[in-house]
Amino acid sequence: MTLASVCSSDIHIKHGSVPRAVEGITVGHEMVGIVEETGSAVTHVKKGDRVTVNVETFCGDCFFCKKGFVNNCTDKNGGWALGCRIDGGQAEYVRVPFADQGLNKIPDTVTDRQALLVGDVLATGFWATRISEITEDDTVLIIGAGPTGICTLLCVELRNPKKIIVCETDPNRIEFVNKHYPDVLTVTPDKCLDFVMNQSEHGGADVVLEVAGADSTFKLAYECARPNAIVTVVALYDKPQTLPLPYMYGKNLTFKTGGVDGCDCDEVLSLIEAGKVNTEPLITHTFPLNDIDKAYHIFENKLDKVIKIAIEC
Ligand SMILES: [Zn+2]
Ligand SMILES: [Zn+2]
Repeated sequence: MTLASVCSSDIHIKHGSVPRAVEGITVGHEMVGIVEETGSAVTHVKKGDRVTVNVETFCGDCFFCKKGFVNNCTDKNGGWALGCRIDGGQAEYVRVPFADQGLNKIPDTVTDRQALLVGDVLATGFWATRISEITEDDTVLIIGAGPTGICTLLCVELRNPKKIIVCETDPNRIEFVNKHYPDVLTVTPDKCLDFVMNQSEHGGADVVLEVAGADSTFKLAYECARPNAIVTVVALYDKPQTLPLPYMYGKNLTFKTGGVDGCDCDEVLSLIEAGKVNTEPLITHTFPLNDIDKAYHIFENKLDKVIKIAIEC
């Protein structure tokens, strides 16, 4: 490993709220490194290649993998395994199963830092945008400007929608969005519904991407959507969410939910190479592996305007 990042899922594991996480596992599922050794079945990468590591382990061969739904790979080792069920990458070395699918070569002109988020949060933003069917006529609402929300914003911008609105509660994150993406409109959750109604021509946003996962944000997502909108739910919730269908009858929303299908990493790397996507500003802090405790403390408590932390392995 050369660089690994700390993700909110690592914090969930630390607190014991990921039941399938194996006790004592080395965490870390978003990382870049150099191939040291390959198994005999590996053909796509070789020793010395600089690569990103995909958060998902998938066989590439089952019914779901062949359709691109790699999140639902039926192999017994498929799904989110690295840094959860098997040792992950906040370490000097990591073993990546199904390496032909799990590793993507980093283009020569792309740095490790530029590629660090490709395997998890950027893959998620890219996938969420892809399934949201965004057109240039659309007003797009993104709820949540954490790392995944901002990666989603970067990918939504590639579709050139008419208007992008980001809803976020944390003033530091609003400041970050305003500073780096001045064309994007920002709003806090309490004002969001009115704001979206005023900014849209047809009674709500054409596309809503819910990337926050707070208690009230699922409701906010479907309330801010216009009739016949697509609502893409990327967020992970602590509790079940309910839809008041009798009151929504006739609104005819389409919901898409996930689980990233992280199979577009080569395309994402090409976009970075072409200068169309840049996640480097999101990496606000860097620590050596020896100081990873400090990194966790800052990330978990959202100190010092942190967005993402890189760990030098
Ligand atoms: Zn993650
Ligand atoms: Zn599969």
